Parts: sequence; C-alpha cells; structure tokens
Amino acid sequence: KRTHTRLPEWLKTPIPTNDNYKRIKNDLRGLNLHTVCEEARCPNISDCWGGSNKSAATATIMLMGDTCTRGCRFCSVKTSNKPPPLDPHEPENTAEALKRWGLGYVVLTSVDRDDLADGGARHFAETIMKIKQKAPQILVEALTGDYAGDIEMVKLVAQSELDVYAHNVETTEELTPMVRDRRAKFRQSLAVLKAAKEAKPTLITKTSIMLGLGETEDQLYRTLKELRAVDVDVVTFGQYMRPTKRHMKVEEYVTPDTFELWRQRALDMGFLYVASGPLVRSSYKAGEAFIENVLK
Ligand code: SF4
Ligand code: SF4
Repeated sequence: KRTHTRLPEWLKTPIPTNDNYKRIKNDLRGLNLHTVCEEARCPNISDCWGGSNKSAATATIMLMGDTCTRGCRFCSVKTSNKPPPLDPHEPENTAEALKRWGLGYVVLTSVDRDDLADGGARHFAETIMKIKQKAPQILVEALTGDYAGDIEMVKLVAQSELDVYAHNVETTEELTPMVRDRRAKFRQSLAVLKAAKEAKPTLITKTSIMLGLGETEDQLYRTLKELRAVDVDVVTFGQYMRPTKRHMKVEEYVTPDTFELWRQRALDMGFLYVASGPLVRSSYKAGEAFIENVLK
C-alpha cells in the first residue's frame, strides 16, 4: 500500500543544481545572512536570484532567529515559548551584508515573537531603516506577522521607509482555525493589511494564499473581495506542500490551469499584480514584478 500520494508532473521540478548552490554560497560567503531561499531549498532560486536583470534579483532573509512562538499546521519552523533573545547587532549587520551583496530587492521576514512586548516590530523597523541608509537602491519588502493585533506596531513598521508591506492571510476565513496557529485570526490579518495601507497610502500591500487546503471557489472569491475592500494591491497563490507527515495533509493538487484562472480572476477584481502557480511563494520574483508593475 502506498503511504503517500505521488506528486503530479507539474510539481516535479529539478532540485536546484549544485552549480546554483555553489554560486549562492559563494555570493553569501562571509555575509552571515540567513536566506530562506537557501535554507528552505526553494525550487525558485534560479528564477529569483538569476535572470538577466541584477537590479531585479530577489532574496528572502530571515530575521529574529529560527524559532517561532507559534505553531501553524502548515509550517516546519521550530517552535518554543521562549526563543533566544534578539541579536542587537542584526539590523546593522544585515544592512551591511546586503549593501555588499548588491541585490535589487530584498524580502525581510521573521518568525513570530509573541514573547517580546513589541513582537519585534522595533527591531524589524530598525533593520529596514539601516538598509535604506546604507543601500538606498535596494527595494525592501517586509513580510511580517500580525503583532497579535497591535496596530501601533504595524504602523511603526509601515512607516519605516519600506516599499512593500506583506502579511499573509494564508487561507480563507473558514479554514484559518484549522491551518494557522490559534492566535492568528483572519479578521486580525485583514486589520494588519488595512492599517499598513492607512499608515502610508503610497505603500504597496501584499498577501499570499495557499491553495490545496480544501478551500472552495466561493470561499476564495470572498477572501479576495475582503482583501480588495482593504485595498490590498498584490496577491500571490501557490500550492500548499506538506513539510512532514506531522503537518496537515494536502487536500488537492491544484492544476496549473486553475492557478492561471485565479490569476485572471484576481486581476479582474482589481489587484495590481498577481503571481499564481503551483511553485509560487509569496516572494517569487518579487523584484521583477515590482519593477514591471509599480516603477514603470
Ligand atoms: Fe527565495 Fe522566495 Fe524566491 Fe524562493 S520564492 S528563491 S524563498 S525569494
Ligand atoms: Fe511558521 Fe509563521 Fe506560523 Fe511561525 S507564525 S509557525 S513562522 S507560519
């Protein structure tokens, strides 16, 4: 008896080749940056890091450690109520490393730190400001948690000179309690996205949704409507992939045609741009998309 479902053809991508890893490792040598791209062995590395336009090259950096205070059922990050303290030198060191690396677009993300009074918002904002001081040409996207609904913390990050504020709703309202940590709420996430836009109306706001968790068409439509109602500019759709058997199972492998259908539907609903595909992650070619759709 089979113990796992076979992956459909469209998800069988080659693991990034050793050549890619060598190039990446070389680029990163001595910079002491933790890229999600590398650590999660993301299949999109060639697309994001490569390409002809170096000013669009995108990477995702993880701040505030590798241990999260939450435990979402789709996520393989380590969990603890008391992660190690923040590294006070991280904002400065990250900015210095990014300046030397010479990327076009960086996505900064972090674990959730419910153990800290400000959820790490000040640390996050300081990192953004330091990057903008040292390397003002780099476009910065912050992919944050919900700060347990503390809107002042959202505003603090939104007003720290970043270009894109991302916060992921991950799934529909109906599925949220089954998918995300119990402290995460769909309405709370909408409030985060709304507050970021209100704090700085020129900011691009962005969210990401995983497909294949059992969501219905109707639920997805309603989710997109809610997101547009709070002026979210960008949405991305990708296939949920189960990290291990202890995580929730995949209900459906959504076909590339269906991803394309949702891309069209979302554009028709007024999103500025949409990335949608089985292997798309929220940061997928984000630099290229921003340059093509916002700066032009
Ligand atoms: Fe890195 Fe995100 Fe691109 Fe993957 S999709 S390579 S994590 S920037
Ligand atoms: Fe993973 Fe983010 Fe959930 Fe933490 S809050 S468990 S990092 S998805």
